[in-house]
Amino acid sequence: MTAASATRTPAIRIEGMSKWYGAFQVLADIDLTVMPGDRLVVCGPSGSGKSTLIRCINRLEEHQEGTITVDGIRLDENTRNIDAVRKEVGMVFQQFNLFPHLTILENCTLAPRTVRRMSKSDAEARAMHYLHKVRIPEQAGKYPGQLSGGQQQRVAIARSLCMDPRIMLFDEPTSALDPEMIKEVLDTMTDLAQEGMTMVVVTHEMGFARRVADRVVFMDRGRIVEQKPPEDFFNAPEHPRTKLFLDQVL
Ligand code: ADP
Ligand code: MG
Repeated sequence: MTAASATRTPAIRIEGMSKWYGAFQVLADIDLTVMPGDRLVVCGPSGSGKSTLIRCINRLEEHQEGTITVDGIRLDENTRNIDAVRKEVGMVFQQFNLFPHLTILENCTLAPRTVRRMSKSDAEARAMHYLHKVRIPEQAGKYPGQLSGGQQQRVAIARSLCMDPRIMLFDEPTSALDPEMIKEVLDTMTDLAQEGMTMVVVTHEMGFARRVADRVVFMDRGRIVEQKPPEDFFNAPEHPRTKLFLDQVL
């Protein structure tokens, strides 16, 4: 850790965190620190707890033990803290979750207008800015059903950015896409990374992890088994389960 990073507030700090679904322990003793500008890729077998982990970061799920602090805000029962954190954290899901009865532009302006109380014209200007950024401004007047999966996912990213998040969480954003559309979404995410966005990305796209991540976190059975820079993760995985996983996905 450099002197500068020692004094900065982590974007996300998770310490000794555990979570249960009923009697089933889904996350065990998770320690994870994400500094501003970090790009983390989280991978691991299906059912290892990746979605649950990132859903805990914006309190879509509650943890039972340990602490989660997002940009200095402690996540606990305090609903004001939860609201504050949700304003800072954008989330993109495997299923794009766009509102089918709203146009692309309306999908992007809804939350800024209702949550942030922006004027219609300001919200539309901002939406167009981000639709340009994800390279589909010409789709603004269409409905989600008229767009390809890749385009819809880029709208979902633009919609999140319209809320000015400081951190973006992605949960397998390309897993529901046809192969030819994966690249356009990964390219959009790469642009975002290059602009310095703090990102936590659950993905099995190991090429993206190599190119874009500065750390890869490997999870298995609710635990973080290994976390390393991509060169080390891919070239010198230490844990047998990591090796097994890499043999399957590479
Ligand atoms: P991943 O994203 O790595 O595939 P998940 O976080 O979705 O893993 O799930 C981890 C484990 O928790 C799985 O065994 C899954 O069946 C279980 N699980 C997920 N959501 C729930 C839930 N709402 N209630 C009970 N068990 C759940
Ligand atoms: Mg998942």
